[in-house]
Amino acid sequence: KVVCVTGASGFIASWIVKFLLQRGYTVRATVRDPTGNPKKVDHLLKLDGAKERLQLFKADLLEEGSFDSVVEGCDGVFHTASPVRFVVNDPQVELIDPALKGTLNVLKSCAKSTSVKRVVLTSSNAAVSFNTRPKNPEVVVDETWFSNPDFCRESKLWYVLSKTLAEAAAWKFVNENNIDMVSLNPTMVAGPLLQPEVNESVEPILNLINGIPFPNKAIGWVNVKDVANAHIHAYEIASASGRCLLAERVVHYSELAMILRDLYPTLPISDKCEDDGPYMPTYQISKEKAKSFGIEFTPLEISLKETVESFREKKFIDF
Ligand code: NDP
Repeated sequence: KVVCVTGASGFIASWIVKFLLQRGYTVRATVRDPTGNPKKVDHLLKLDGAKERLQLFKADLLEEGSFDSVVEGCDGVFHTASPVRFVVNDPQVELIDPALKGTLNVLKSCAKSTSVKRVVLTSSNAAVSFNTRPKNPEVVVDETWFSNPDFCRESKLWYVLSKTLAEAAAWKFVNENNIDMVSLNPTMVAGPLLQPEVNESVEPILNLINGIPFPNKAIGWVNVKDVANAHIHAYEIASASGRCLLAERVVHYSELAMILRDLYPTLPISDKCEDDGPYMPTYQISKEKAKSFGIEFTPLEISLKETVESFREKKFIDF
């Protein structure tokens, strides 16, 4: 079967492409600039099966109709492309427009196509758990939770807002246009990197092992290979529908630092928090739906080890 992966050079998408090729699919991979920056695609072209079954396409989220010809002829579309940046100057231009307009752009191409049977949307926990509902270790966040755009705006959580608006618009569009879509909502993703550059969600781990004080935040983590597999299951399991949260567990950064210290006792991992306030409480994330997708989560300890080993292999750290 032929499938499309948007934003194929990214951290998560690269693993999706790798697993799809392993499973015998023909993959149409979209990137913004397939020829201008070989570093973006070299790792994809080296994957097993790439020579025979990987085709690169140029497509931009903000270019109307950019995905039309890629999507036509595909059975499934994995829409992962969306900017992941936690610090920006202009949230509308840098995050919200590409996330929101980009998602609708891709879905419009799917609506026009005569072949697409299912869309798998890479949404995020960002679109789930950022609202005014209290959180503590007893609270279980599940697929019925939605982030609140006003809360995101007031808290200036621009990336979170971009993912919240994009997922909401996606559901509205697919319901109105009779498109079969499954949304995956991972927390922060860790694990080995296939791409040559450090991406945003593993950067906090690099900061920790470089001795930088940790943020006062409790956040969920999940392994990139589990996330990529979940995408493929969400596409292949005919009965899959709705949203699916993906998290191994939520920990405060102090605990993340502790795990890393246990794994790497010689590294200068800080035991200092960025602020003096009480630690932000943890909460739980339901794994019920993920179980129904056949997902078993890799323990966080292993995901962290794989991330650090990958940093070492790529020479982002030297020890
Ligand atoms: P990466 O930054 O590694 O990948 C993002 C991809 O989106 C890149 O391929 C990037 O292309 C592409 N992209 C960004 N803007 C545009 C644009 N205007 N037109 C075309 N492509 C664009 O991030 P991740 O792999 O971490 O994230 C992938 C998806 O997963 C995103 O939707 C993200 O929101 C979601 N997600 C990520 C989590 C994480 O912790 N990593 C957690 C939950 C969800 P280019 O390389 O050219 O910039």
